[in-house]
Amino acid sequence: MDPQNQSLVTQADTIYQEHFPPSVRFERAIFFSWGCTIGDCTFCYMSTQPADKPPRETRRSTESILAEFLLAKHLGWDIGFFTGGIGVLKPDELEVMLQAAVEITGDKLWLSVGPVSRLHLQRYLPYIKGVVGSTETINPQLHKKVCPSKPLAPYERMFEAARELGLQRAMTFIVGLGETREDLLLLKEFIHKYDISKIHVYGLIPQKGTIHEKDPVPSAEEQAWWIAQLRIAFPLLDIQCGIWEDRVERVSLLLQAGANSISKFKAIKLFGTAVAQEIENEAAKAGRTFVGTLTRLPDVDWNQEIERFSFASELKKRMKIKLEQYLGPMKKLQDNLSD
Ligand code: SF4
Repeated sequence: MDPQNQSLVTQADTIYQEHFPPSVRFERAIFFSWGCTIGDCTFCYMSTQPADKPPRETRRSTESILAEFLLAKHLGWDIGFFTGGIGVLKPDELEVMLQAAVEITGDKLWLSVGPVSRLHLQRYLPYIKGVVGSTETINPQLHKKVCPSKPLAPYERMFEAARELGLQRAMTFIVGLGETREDLLLLKEFIHKYDISKIHVYGLIPQKGTIHEKDPVPSAEEQAWWIAQLRIAFPLLDIQCGIWEDRVERVSLLLQAGANSISKFKAIKLFGTAVAQEIENEAAKAGRTFVGTLTRLPDVDWNQEIERFSFASELKKRMKIKLEQYLGPMKKLQDNLSD
């Protein structure tokens, strides 16, 4: 790393240590669908879904979503946000899901479902602590290019409404879409303007079938630069760094640059693998205690846990089956690692 970047990271690390404990958590984003009515953001895997599949039919089953919430809770993962394609769930369907999810987690959720009107935010108030605007980039020209049907203005209106309702505001930022370092100024102004308390700093994942397929993965230093700049400018900002299985070796650097938490990693599919273990090792390398686990299944009576909920018995039955389908392969992977 060049000396300038190194001194930036050192400064950011000192600021982090002044304001936060030396720990790190994994945050799981829980999706309710694999399709989206917008479907043309250039970097998004949802834009590669077959056009003949109506987005509403890409909904996951309720039992699979709720089983994932339960799993996340017992593995010590925070819920980054509850999300899915825009226009897939109707407000009453979303409300039912939120209510059930909060019964499981015992904590209000971050919601990321596109721009939400004030009226609907009000309706979800008992279940949400904040809204996430999937803003992706603040550079207006670039935004038009990468999110042609998802303008920023409706998100800005949502942030205003959220502020009035006492909800927290979070945003996303993807490094590698074509931004320049000069865009930092715009990003800082945006964070100030909407009093954003949390930011998800992802690195581009060049999805197959998108125009970014052949784009380079942004370097660890570049992602760290953005995180460190934000940590220095906003000492109390909650910064989440998005990683992927091809870049876990950058975790220690991103944490030293001032990230609070890690996300995006396929934590269920790759649970208990060497790559998951490496994330926990990287946290230790950065002087952080890893809270929760990506490698060891806790001893939980899952059926008993499900029985506690007020859900219909048929749903609980289906949740138990789903959970088994998650846990079986996770246990196998975990056992392979210990062999
Ligand atoms: S609106 Fe969100 S989910 Fe839909 S295509 Fe764009 S980035 Fe993907």
